[in-house]
Amino acid sequence: MALRYGVVGFGCAGYHGIKALRDSGYGGEIHVFSDKWDPPANPMLTTYYTAGKIPYRGMFPFGDLAAVVKKYDLKLRGGEAVKAIDYDGRRLFNARGEAFGYDKLLLATGGKAVLPAIPGAAGPEVYCMRQVEDAVRLKERLERGGVGKAIVAGASMVGIKVVELLRQRGIDCVLADLAPVIFPLAALPETADIIASRLADRGVKPRFGQGIEAIEAVEAVGAVGAAGAVGAAGPVGAGARLGEKAKLGGKLNVRYTDGTGEACDLVVFCVGTRADIGFVGQALKVGKGIVVDRHMRTSQENVYAAGDCCEGLNRQSGDTQIIGLWANAAGQGKIAGENMAGKETLWGGNIPHNITHFFNMDFIAFGDNRLPGERFLWRSPDGGTTLNVTLRDGKPVCINILDNCGISGILKAGFLKGISGENSPVGWNGQVRLRERNVPAWISERLGLDA
Ligand SMILES: Cc1cc2nc3c(=O)[nH]c(=O)nc-3n(C[C@H](O)[C@H](O)[C@H](O)COP(=O)(O)OP(=O)(O)OC[C@H]3O[C@@H](n4cnc5c(N)ncnc54)[C@H](O)[C@@H]3O)c2cc1C
Repeated sequence: MALRYGVVGFGCAGYHGIKALRDSGYGGEIHVFSDKWDPPANPMLTTYYTAGKIPYRGMFPFGDLAAVVKKYDLKLRGGEAVKAIDYDGRRLFNARGEAFGYDKLLLATGGKAVLPAIPGAAGPEVYCMRQVEDAVRLKERLERGGVGKAIVAGASMVGIKVVELLRQRGIDCVLADLAPVIFPLAALPETADIIASRLADRGVKPRFGQGIEAIEAVEAVGAVGAAGAVGAAGPVGAGARLGEKAKLGGKLNVRYTDGTGEACDLVVFCVGTRADIGFVGQALKVGKGIVVDRHMRTSQENVYAAGDCCEGLNRQSGDTQIIGLWANAAGQGKIAGENMAGKETLWGGNIPHNITHFFNMDFIAFGDNRLPGERFLWRSPDGGTTLNVTLRDGKPVCINILDNCGISGILKAGFLKGISGENSPVGWNGQVRLRERNVPAWISERLGLDA
């Protein structure tokens, strides 16, 4: 009887797992279990769709569903989430309780957007951005019109893309975060300051250092405020009190942890993702994500995991963590597929790495921005490049680049080699390319990248 391999989740990691299985010569059955009837989507393109910059089909980088299914000879079981797995019996179950047997399994269910557990977070004018459906929902809402002001919670790479698309529609926009600065997981302080001032120039209003503790319909706020209960909490926007919200024109009131409130028409939460692993059960070892080894094997025999649903090696810290990046999901999916097909390949790990383009600027960050050390900021004389670096023991532990994505590949490669202890990490070719992009020799020397 033909072997029967299952793949749960049909995103980047699932797709690359399937591709690697076929590329490695696996000729048995591949059953794909997806909660949708869509081809694999690229979540990072969702904001581009909502912004109207790409068509709907542009969110699906591997082509249409029928073509992908045919190319890899898949048996697609779409529209049903997997709900449970019986590892001993090698069976999985969908929401209707139907069972499917497998010989080997790849878990690739990615992450889902976090919505905070606060009053009002499930309201009709509250949005998030992860899946294709999220992008469609926000786009449809914006096209209906009547949005004068929005609050985006989460000064993250996703949050800033949402802010950008809202500002491009002329919508008044507040960027709020519990952290005191923008990009708290990636930016060094000097870079955060530069970005914050550029955002202010583009009309983005910061509201940092405070969480959102409730979202209230204005009518309800008005009633409560009039009764004097919540209305006594403090100023709203430019000094108004909660009970006066209806006059400010927003349909919602967002209440912050410092007791102030702010009127708006809608709220978009971009406060991170959580591994979508509610179905894996207690028999599988999990931390924040599914625990895997460098073959992408889980704690259960013949079960592999890849992408945002699992923890992988952080090459800088040596720990494992979820590294929510497209290239990471693709690389882990490939390694999982190869090992399922019988090859002995190893995932080399990655580091948290951000490349974001917004408001005509590029922000690239890699390494750990929390590590202490000697920091320096360099701006090229032509203003075309800003580098912000933390050095420890003469080696970079965090690099931020503004406005010059052309040097990020060389610097990241050098950074990765540097943390592996290699000498002359970028070599002569890299040096030449850095000089061509106006990065002086002393910078390479300071970063320990010189040949
Ligand atoms: C707005 C945004 C911007 C981003 N920008 C960048 C960027 O600039 N650079 C970068 O590298 N990364 C970026 N990312 C992250 C990147 O998109 C992810 O790391 C990557 O898509 C992870 O792929 P995955 O296959 O692990 O998960 P996903 O792409 O989430 O795919 C998982 C699939 O599994 C399905 N699924 C979930 N549960 C079940 C179940 N129980 N049964 C069946 N199917 C299930 C899901 O519906 C989904 O289709 C961004 C993400 C977002 C949302």
